[in-house]
Amino acid sequence: MRDFSQSHEWLSINTATVRRQWRLDRIVEECARRGIRAISPWRDQVAAVGLQAVAARLRDTDTVLSGYCRGGFFPAAEATGLRAALDDNRRALDEACTLGAPCLVLVVGSLPGALDGNPAYHDLARARAEVRDGIAATLEHARQANMPLAIEPLHPMQAAERACVNTLEQALDLCDELDPARSGALGVAVDLYHVWWDPKLAQQIARAGRERLLALHVCDWLTPTRDLLNDRGMMGDGVIEIRKIRGWMEDAGYAGFAEVEIFSEHWWSRPGDEVLDTCIARHRSAV
Ligand code: ZN
Repeated sequence: MRDFSQSHEWLSINTATVRRQWRLDRIVEECARRGIRAISPWRDQVAAVGLQAVAARLRDTDTVLSGYCRGGFFPAAEATGLRAALDDNRRALDEACTLGAPCLVLVVGSLPGALDGNPAYHDLARARAEVRDGIAATLEHARQANMPLAIEPLHPMQAAERACVNTLEQALDLCDELDPARSGALGVAVDLYHVWWDPKLAQQIARAGRERLLALHVCDWLTPTRDLLNDRGMMGDGVIEIRKIRGWMEDAGYAGFAEVEIFSEHWWSRPGDEVLDTCIARHRSAV
């Protein structure tokens, strides 16, 4: 297992972590200045600065991506909505290629409209079928673009609004169905916040293997958790056995970045410098 205690060579910052403090161009600068060599940006942050401008800034600073956030949200009540989702995922894939991302992360979606408090239907099995079909259709484009898709299972508390794929086992079943050859075009993003509680986690990480393990997202689970979306903890402040799980990932062949992804009203209220400096310190002591 790699020793992170002396260096942050394998630290990546998911740029949502400091999205309230800085625009993306500033985030790239602040990370580069600290020797953080990877980020994972969100599409809205890229759009606010401009795709080509971001690509140039990444090149200028020798910054690489650990992922691109995000595609997905496949289910829709009508055929036009399903088609619009596929078009949007193709655009996300093309952006990921322009930025040189190693994968496009998929938050697959669930009951359409639920995010706005108005679900168009209640049939979770239908949503799961639409997700499967949406990934299958997007996978063709992903293969042509040579851009892997990383399915991110989300904690079941998000099952209505954001993702009807809720365990690593479920995500890997989809991978096996749609990419039985383990071609590398389809895999998973393992976000510890979403999967840490799963009794099958170690077993499923081993099952995934190197070809399927495309990303590792880290933060911590606070007790008590005060908000289901925006109360993620800094590594070391909660109950997730981060280093143990990273060990399982590495035993299975994962050798990529540990990407810090913290949605937190607390950390968004702190100065960006403090947040990044704390990420570096905790990457060394708790990841
Ligand atoms: Zn994540």
